[in-house]
Amino acid sequence: MTDRYGRSITYMRMSVTELCNLRCRYCMPEDGISKKCHEDMLTEDEMIMAVRAAAQLGVTKLRITGGEPLVKKNILNICGRAAAVDGISEVCITTNGTLLPELAVPLKEAGVSRVNISLDTLSADKYRYISRRGELEDAINGIRAALGAGFEKVKINTVLIGGFNDDEIRPLAELTLRYPVDLRFIELMPMYDSGDFGKEAFIPYTVVLDKLPELVPDAPDGGVAKLYRLPGALGDIGLISPVSAHFCAECNRIRLTADGKLKPCLHSGDEYSIKGLDYDGMVKEMETAIYSKPSWHGELDAVNRSRAGRNMNQIGG
Ligand code: SAM
Ligand code: SF4
Repeated sequence: MTDRYGRSITYMRMSVTELCNLRCRYCMPEDGISKKCHEDMLTEDEMIMAVRAAAQLGVTKLRITGGEPLVKKNILNICGRAAAVDGISEVCITTNGTLLPELAVPLKEAGVSRVNISLDTLSADKYRYISRRGELEDAINGIRAALGAGFEKVKINTVLIGGFNDDEIRPLAELTLRYPVDLRFIELMPMYDSGDFGKEAFIPYTVVLDKLPELVPDAPDGGVAKLYRLPGALGDIGLISPVSAHFCAECNRIRLTADGKLKPCLHSGDEYSIKGLDYDGMVKEMETAIYSKPSWHGELDAVNRSRAGRNMNQIGG
């Protein structure tokens, strides 16, 4: 389906849980979240019905996210059933990777074709700091497991944080020289309650170009990242700039939260509930949500914080 601004909506990001085994400082509060009532969350059947409704409206690509999707007990069923929906040609997952050692192969067998793994640092101490409880080794083992399971694509997502990991841009980028992985540097977004990062934490993607002058532009792949490559690398490097150079005019996505709210825009408070609706109701509400998608997300910086009204773990990124 095409929205009011002529953008064709072909991509849905579906969050399957708000819960997570980590507590990344830019994503969620230290004490976790007030666990919502089980009855308020979408059931597995409702999620699959929503995927069917989205496919009817032209969505072909689905990304499963969270919270941490791999802490969800029925994650393999959800992925398997979603991959079998007519019209869905690609099911991807975004994860912190720590549970991939057990789950990479079953996810691949369930029909997941691509995996994005979040990794902001290569230092064990900094990993513990930023995730408030995780171990770097678990994430690295997750990346190894994903590479071993034979996914079509393994991508690493790094949130760029001034004063935290801007000194690691080169070693992180050089992962693409050693492993067949793509890497995405994503600008830090000022979410609702995402910690006390100062102004200096919000750095533009151009610092990557400054630190890696040998980057060569790569052909676009239809996504929102500007693509580059280190000479001789096995994977590409993408720069994603939601803050400094927004890509709203090319936005082709809609989001569904674990509590059944369609979000036409990541940074808007507008939400359309599909919880408890039947199939026709879901299709209708999805049409309304797509039709109401704003032209852009408005100013975003350390002062103008996101108007999403939720932390990132309650949206899915
Ligand atoms: N738990 C999974 C993970 O960490 O990959 C999936 C959910 S997480 C909310 C999805 C993505 O959002 C991650 O790549 C994470 O780094 C990113 N993210 C969370 N908060 C962010 C923020 N304030 N700015 C930019 N990216 C953020
Ligand atoms: Fe959890 Fe992912 Fe948020 Fe980190 S970014 S707290 S791993 S949901």
